Amino acid sequence: TERVLSGMQPSADSLHLGNYLGALVNWVKMQERYDAFFFIPDMHAITVQQDPAELRTRVRRTAAQYIAGGLDVERSTVFVQSHVPEHAQLGWIMTCLTGMGEASRMTQFKDKSAKQGADAAGVGLFTYPMLQAADILLYQPHGVPVGQDQKQHVELSRNLAQRFNHRYGETFRVPEPLIPEAGARIYDLQNPTAKMSKSAASPAGLLNLMDSDKQIAKKIKSAVTDDGAEIRFDQAEKPGVSNLLSIYSALTDRPIGEIVEEYQDRMYGHLKVELAEVVVAKLSPIRSRTEELLEDPAQLDALLATGAAKARSVAGETLAEVYDKVGFLPAS
Ligand code: ATP
Ligand code: MG
Repeated sequence: TERVLSGMQPSADSLHLGNYLGALVNWVKMQERYDAFFFIPDMHAITVQQDPAELRTRVRRTAAQYIAGGLDVERSTVFVQSHVPEHAQLGWIMTCLTGMGEASRMTQFKDKSAKQGADAAGVGLFTYPMLQAADILLYQPHGVPVGQDQKQHVELSRNLAQRFNHRYGETFRVPEPLIPEAGARIYDLQNPTAKMSKSAASPAGLLNLMDSDKQIAKKIKSAVTDDGAEIRFDQAEKPGVSNLLSIYSALTDRPIGEIVEEYQDRMYGHLKVELAEVVVAKLSPIRSRTEELLEDPAQLDALLATGAAKARSVAGETLAEVYDKVGFLPAS
């Protein structure tokens, strides 16, 4: 079977609806067909400052949400990045293969460093895509399921794989970005031209998997809508309403056109109230299951240890080959 690999940052207490619809739903489907690896990139999370105790909590919470959202740890390999040291080891080699200019073109770095101020941004934020290349290439996956926002990073991974293969001989499989077509991008409720993001300035625009039913209803109610009263899908003129329609469609598996038709001659308020019901119906069971899993952290940690052992058996093989090819002296 073909292999896929993906991950989501434990950079917040909760995943958000964009992570769920843009990634997790898709992962759950993929584990049926593929040899799937899903990891929690805690090493990426520290590219911006994290409180240590909070980071630990967030890694467990993210793992619990993966599982509550439908990942089956028997079927998929679910692990924490820092449990597999090969990521850091290959990350260094990828960093050495990358050009300064090439790295400077990564738009996520530009966005995130602009948010922090150029001097506050750490070098890790700059080299993040090289560690990400290592994350991917260690497992020799045929595909990497990511949102549109990660496409440039997967492109870099492909370039680095090809460069390494060219320089040192065939070693890495060159992975394809697997970008879901529908529900691929969810926008911030308060700022519907920006993507919903864990690192958003304000939490009001995020629908979190761990939000209470009340919080969800409130956030949807106060979502920014557009001038006029007409409910139609038009991302340029009506980004707010269009985002609500996309969410509705993605959660119900109904085409947007059908939903638009249903809301003809009705008001934004109706759409919001009913959308809130749809979101709550989907998220509240996931939240309960997450809370249940978090009640037994030792058991959760044991699941992650099993995942890490499975991951290391694959990653270790790739790294050994890479170390040999670049000319490192064998350690024993
Ligand atoms: P951060 O702000 O820390 O970068 P994030 O919310 O962008 O967090 P990531 O961990 O970077 O989340 O991404 C996890 C996965 O979720 C990726 O596959 C990404 O493409 C997807 N994703 C993130 N935001 C959205 C969104 N708004 N819509 C759809 N998919 C998204
Ligand atoms: Mg992101």
